[in-house]
Amino acid sequence: MSTLSSAMELNYDVLIVGSGVAGLYCALHLEDNLNVLIVSKGYFDENNTYLAQGGISTAKDPVDILPYIKDTLKAGQYENDTLAVRTLAEESIDNIKTLVELGVPFDKKNNTISYTKEGAHSTNRIVHVKDQTGRYLWETLMKQVQKKKNITLMMNTSLADLITEDNFCYGGVLISGEEQMNVYAKSVVLATGGIGGIFKDSTNHRILTGDGICLALKYNITVKNLEYIQIHPTSLYDNNYYGRRFLISEAVRGEGAKLLNQEGNRFVDELLPRDVVAKAIRNEINKSNIPYVFLDISFLSKDYLVKRFPMIYEKCAQIGIDISKDPMLVIPSQHYHMGGIQVDIDSKSSMSRLFAVGEASCTGVHGKNRLASNSLLEGLVFSKRAAQSINETNKTIGFKKIPINFVAKNLIEITKSNKQILKKELQRRSPDFNDELFDDR
Ligand SMILES: Cc1cc2nc3c(=O)[nH]c(=O)nc-3n(C[C@H](O)[C@H](O)[C@H](O)COP(=O)(O)OP(=O)(O)OC[C@H]3O[C@@H](n4cnc5c(N)ncnc54)[C@H](O)[C@@H]3O)c2cc1C
Repeated sequence: MSTLSSAMELNYDVLIVGSGVAGLYCALHLEDNLNVLIVSKGYFDENNTYLAQGGISTAKDPVDILPYIKDTLKAGQYENDTLAVRTLAEESIDNIKTLVELGVPFDKKNNTISYTKEGAHSTNRIVHVKDQTGRYLWETLMKQVQKKKNITLMMNTSLADLITEDNFCYGGVLISGEEQMNVYAKSVVLATGGIGGIFKDSTNHRILTGDGICLALKYNITVKNLEYIQIHPTSLYDNNYYGRRFLISEAVRGEGAKLLNQEGNRFVDELLPRDVVAKAIRNEINKSNIPYVFLDISFLSKDYLVKRFPMIYEKCAQIGIDISKDPMLVIPSQHYHMGGIQVDIDSKSSMSRLFAVGEASCTGVHGKNRLASNSLLEGLVFSKRAAQSINETNKTIGFKKIPINFVAKNLIEITKSNKQILKKELQRRSPDFNDELFDDR
């Protein structure tokens, strides 16, 4: 039962839940006369944005918009929302320009931005900063947010409930340590990220347990494609882990790394689509009863590997593997959630005054499967649109005070219960989600 001792009441024009790319970029596009509160469940940088390696997709120029749309639709197996995809592609160029103006130090070649290529893109169109794009992006956005006088930041502060009546959202109930804060807001933006924390093996931060989606389920807010989950075939197996798996980028297989089973034999074409490779690895693991397979790139020189994959080289070295001599131990892991809270192209959910942005939302951009590096861009394009929509409507609406009870659970209990709610929902939607995939701690 409750361990909370007091409840404070606060008023903000906009409450943003989440400090990843979607939450921060939304805040930066809100008018300066709006009072904004951004909260994050853990430390500010404890989010998937910070972990992003590869880069951000963008149409390179107006001519590339159509091919980019085609690539996104093909990857999504044509289950995408075409208006959302068109919006993503058409608005990509301006948003990347904004990031450059804000100071993201994208890698350059001959003084112009360098574009790289990733799986299923028909051309080079990924902007990047080394192999740590997310970190540089996040640090730039955070620096800008901290300059704004109208934005307040609170970390280790969790959204526990929404303040709602008659399908209107009037704020959120937050828990910080032993304290409950009832925040009344004219608009609420859920930027709560992915759901990797509910899985045993995931590349995501453990604290990301789909809290926004769970509240959507609680209040019958429309959700979409919750069962569409991207599994990455190769994350590092390390039995000292607490569930967050380090990503071994697809680029390693792109460079010719071979997947080997316990007998040292290849068992799959490493460059087949992610779901096919992941399934083949699972089969081998089930057959051998040993929880990993091998990924070998030791035929490349140490010098080359250190230069090409500095983070991967260093991470493996930390656990005693020199990848220029020995194979890595790898395992498939949950990586990305295509589904989420259904929103329109202005990020409006089915509940009035409630927006959802970034990985917590389902704009329909990804369809059944995300095209590589489309998620950071989705977080940018649609969170800016949410901000523009809030700027227009905020002047005309007021606060509504509804009496709030104490939250009857502490944070650990809420997170545990959210994990169970989502697990059951996924299992209800698809037989593929068996118990052994989930983290029941
Ligand atoms: C290892 C890895 C590599 C990736 N590489 C790429 C890439 O190269 N390119 C690309 O486009 N995408 C990549 N992705 C995906 C991409 O990083 C994410 O989809 C994107 O960053 C999500 O941004 P977001 O703002 O929606 O969520 P996040 O950045 O994850 O932020 C979520 C925020 O919500 C907060 N939160 C959650 N629940 C609560 C709560 N109850 N109360 C308060 N706050 C809460 C968290 O504290 C956090 O601040 C990668 C993902 C991973 C894991």
